[in-house]
Amino acid sequence: MKRKIVRIDEEKCTGCGLCVSPCVEGAIEIVNGKAKVLREELCDGAGVCLNVCPTGALTIEEREAPAFDPVAAEKNLEAKRAQGASPRCLRCGADETRAVLLLARHHGESTWVCTRCLPVLIHG
Ligand code: SF4
Repeated sequence: MKRKIVRIDEEKCTGCGLCVSPCVEGAIEIVNGKAKVLREELCDGAGVCLNVCPTGALTIEEREAPAFDPVAAEKNLEAKRAQGASPRCLRCGADETRAVLLLARHHGESTWVCTRCLPVLIHG
């Protein structure tokens, strides 16, 4: 099927790894110093990872790819949670089972913040 999915420009990718954590489904991994969409069925094409890439290597394209598999994505997310590798709020440490998390930029870094802590970060 043809659908929207992340495309990685290997020429631009430095392998910094900043896109791995924002991809909560775990579709992106670093292989031999480059980001790769290793399991296309885990990429929902939402493009949350795009904004974290400092080199503009990530884009969304429409191409032939396996359908997004929400069950496999949830399983992968569960495995990440079990390893303590799921996203957490930078301020209170809540994970997405306890709070709504948003991807944000803070002090030049891409990070996660929960909706309870966001006003504190904005207003002090
Ligand atoms: S954030 Fe961009 S440069 Fe860094 S690993 Fe991902 S695609 Fe490559």
